[in-house]
Formats: sequence, C-alpha cells, structure tokens
Amino acid sequence: MDKEFTSEQLQRYQRQMMLPGIGLAGQQKIAESRVFIAGAGGLGSPAGYYLAAAGIGRICMADDDVVELSNLQRQIAHNTERIGMSKTKSAEISFKSLNPNVEFLAIQQRITKENVAALIEDHDIVLDCSDNLSTRYLLNDACVLMSKPLVSGAVAGFTGHVTTIIPGQGHCFRCIFEDMDPYDKSLDSQPGILGAFAGVIGSIQAMETLKIITGIGETLQNTLLIYDGLKSEFRRVHAARNRDCPACGENPTIKISGRG
Ligand SMILES: [Zn+2]
Repeated sequence: MDKEFTSEQLQRYQRQMMLPGIGLAGQQKIAESRVFIAGAGGLGSPAGYYLAAAGIGRICMADDDVVELSNLQRQIAHNTERIGMSKTKSAEISFKSLNPNVEFLAIQQRITKENVAALIEDHDIVLDCSDNLSTRYLLNDACVLMSKPLVSGAVAGFTGHVTTIIPGQGHCFRCIFEDMDPYDKSLDSQPGILGAFAGVIGSIQAMETLKIITGIGETLQNTLLIYDGLKSEFRRVHAARNRDCPACGENPTIKISGRG
C-alpha cells in the first residue's frame, strides 16, 4: 500500500518531487528506504544531512568516536556545544532537527568483522563514509556477500573518489584496490583535509544513494570517479569486475564472521 504523505511532507519535498523521474512514486521509494552510513565524520555528515533532508525513511549511522574540537572544521553534523558527545548522537540531533520525519538509529560502535553483518542486515543501501582502508574492505566484503548496494567514498588531501558497487552486476572495491595492503596505514586518509572538499565527496555519495533508490539517471556502477580538488577536475575511470577477485570473483575466498 502506498504511503500517504501529510501536507507538511508534501510541502517539504515539493521541490524534489517536481523533478522528472521522482514525483510522488519516487518520494515514496525514498520514504521507504533504509540506509546504513558507516562513519559520522567528514563524509557521513554531508551525506547524512542531505539524505535526511530528502526524507529517507530510516538512517542508521555507526561510529565509535566522540565529537572533538578539531572535527568541527569539516564534520558539519556536529557543533561546538556537543564536544564530548558521541558523534552518532550528535548527528541524530542535527538530522532529526532538520527533518523529524526521518527515523534515526545511532550506533556508537566500531564496525568489526563480528558485527558488520548484523549492522547492515536490515538496510537497503550502505554508504562507506569511513576513514580507513580496513573498514572499506570489511564493508565491501559484507555487501558483496549480502548483496547490498554500496556507495564508497574516500578523501585524502585534495584527492577524492566515489564508486557505486552493485553486487552481482559489476566490480567491487577489491576488484580495483586489491593490490593495496588493507593494514598499510599510509593508505588511510591523510590528516590534512578541507571541510568543503569532504562536502563534495559526501554530497556525491548522497546523490548516488538517491539515484539507486529512485532509479533515475546512471550511477557510478563500474566507474571510479576521481575528483582533483585543486584543479577542479573530475575523471571517470572504468572499473571492471575481476574474475579472480577474492570477494566477488568466480572462486571467492573471503568470508564474514557468522556468514556462510
Ligand atoms: Zn570484486
């Protein structure tokens, strides 16, 4: 049965419902969708804000950190009064204040091999807004095994990238990055970052999510989008599935705890 929108909701979403391909049916899909966001930092803040604004039915956000003063130049879901509060609780206050229609689940936990399957299980789409490579691999492997679309974003200095992984229909994160050692810390996000730059990448992740939900346009499936913030240049690199990929190849070897 179609969801009935209140007049408040119809007014709130009218500018996006005017768009070709969205309309009432698209808004219903958005309102029924459940999105998991890994990380309440520089990418999770803008991605979560825009998804909450758009009227996503349920947002679940996982992060084990608390808000620190040095986070605030980029992690716009938080503010000065909330220093010391858990980031997911702080994000909940911001997102619910922007849009009380959104159900929000705050999970103050680190994502591990043991909990990843249970965390993403009840969600339709996963956003990787984490800041380290080992979490990226973990989310990729769980999404491949559980057939969940994954929108992966990353920033390092003035370089950012986004790719959309639809398991069974194209590449996965390991197909393109397998040569990197997941425990090589030098590949984790560089410490220097401009908030506006993370905002670009997080916003693209929110766009990808809304396109998957509504079916409009083309996603970054089989594409790695690379953004050079200094040159204001976007490059699209074809991302092909690797038959020998340990996660999504013909003879996968990767398992997630508690899953077959
Ligand atoms: Zn793969």
